[in-house]
Amino acid sequence: MLNKYGEVEENASLEFCNTYGIKSQTKYLVKPFDLKSLQELLIFLDKENIKYYILGKGSNVILPDNPFSGAIISLANLNKIEFNDHTLKVEAGALLSKVVSEAIEKNLQGLETLGTIPGTIGGALYGNASFYKDITIYDKVKEVMVIRNHELVTVPREDITVSHRHSSFKGSNDIIVASTFILADGDQEKMLEEVKKTKEKRLATQPYEYKNAGSVFKNPDAASAGKLIDEAHLKGLHVGDAYVSEKHANFIVNKGNATSQDIKELIKIIQEKIKAKYNIDLELEQQIIEWE
Ligand SMILES: Cc1cc2nc3c(=O)[nH]c(=O)nc-3n(C[C@H](O)[C@H](O)[C@H](O)COP(=O)(O)OP(=O)(O)OC[C@H]3O[C@@H](n4cnc5c(N)ncnc54)[C@H](O)[C@@H]3O)c2cc1C
Repeated sequence: MLNKYGEVEENASLEFCNTYGIKSQTKYLVKPFDLKSLQELLIFLDKENIKYYILGKGSNVILPDNPFSGAIISLANLNKIEFNDHTLKVEAGALLSKVVSEAIEKNLQGLETLGTIPGTIGGALYGNASFYKDITIYDKVKEVMVIRNHELVTVPREDITVSHRHSSFKGSNDIIVASTFILADGDQEKMLEEVKKTKEKRLATQPYEYKNAGSVFKNPDAASAGKLIDEAHLKGLHVGDAYVSEKHANFIVNKGNATSQDIKELIKIIQEKIKAKYNIDLELEQQIIEWE
């Protein structure tokens, strides 16, 4: 019945739907064909009392080990990118990397440092993705379009509160479907150089050779979480196949078959050791997802 609204896979593995590669499962994995089918799908799921969860690229989440009895919704088919002069309108399933490369092609500047974040526009707006603390996705946002109680609603930027890796969409039931950005004229060569520099820096400092979900902890005030973990000699510490990265101590990497439980236990051990050594509470940047 769900295939009326999109591509459907039943009893699907989520291993390739999260960058940790956790082997979670779901009863239904649905990719709505377009905005209208997404809207109709949500009405149907609510009517039938079927639980659902929106997943972008799964690059900021720790999925559970137990299977989800509802529908995971992927917005991969909602990926339109439209330019109108300096205005860029993007659907939520579009990848940041694609959006940024198209903007650069049009000589439009403002998002280039975010182009190496491996997520979708929807995930980035939900979690206020940023390049370090300086440049955030919201710097150029004009408005965000969401589905709220089955209706399409446009939320102006001034009605959205944001802080480091937080937006007011967190904790709401809104589903982000698109956003408009206002970009400035830019110098293509300079922007390409910026992207190249960012990529090189990431490759040199982050463990791309293993599955991971980016920085595990937020940096505490005036300190670096990675430095604290490194100085506490926790690099290489592991639970099962979940390891504190040797390359960057604020990353946990999956060296094989790490489970959600392995990753969460390792997080707990790190938090306890940092608390004992520095009396600092490390706050998670990644999101632990729980479902029945
Ligand atoms: C190697 C690596 C480097 C990274 N570097 C950075 C970095 O520099 N800066 C940074 O900010 N992050 C970084 N991240 C983390 C991550 O890529 C970002 O947080 C990204 O924005 C998450 O997007 P996503 O599509 O993967 O979201 P997901 O992980 O799929 O989802 C995250 C949350 O957003 C919700 N969500 C997703 N789409 C929607 C939607 N359309 N409507 C409502 N809710 C939605 C999900 O339900 C979930 O709660 C990095 C990750 C990796 C693996």
